[in-house]
Amino acid sequence: MRYLSAGERVAEHFQEYLEAVLAAQQFQQSNVRTWTLLQCYAEFQFRLNGGSHCALCNATVRHVIPVTVCRDSGATDSYTCLCTRCYEGERARSVKMIQAIGEARIEEGPRVYGKRSSDYSRSKSAAS
Ligand SMILES: [Zn+2]
Repeated sequence: MRYLSAGERVAEHFQEYLEAVLAAQQFQQSNVRTWTLLQCYAEFQFRLNGGSHCALCNATVRHVIPVTVCRDSGATDSYTCLCTRCYEGERARSVKMIQAIGEARIEEGPRVYGKRSSDYSRSKSAAS
């Protein structure tokens, strides 16, 4: 097996990223498309620079996506990234969660327990 140089590996990751961007265009719902783009950009960053740690509990985080938490009081808290557990914890105590990298932006409200996952997919998203 031939070893790839650093430049060849970056080119390979970038090609995968572009393929993921093309694949994301097939989604009709803009929030699904934006979510897919955020995920593949974060995966691309992970392969180039590695992950990070959760701003709250210091757990290892693979996909580094900045999160802004909007509170009931009107205050906001911004984190460089959160692990899944802390994200859901903050989401339960928020009125709105915003994940954004550049123009790609996803907004989520708190979960309504007892709702089916299919109810979420039909709801209109604020993402553009
Ligand atoms: Zn955490």
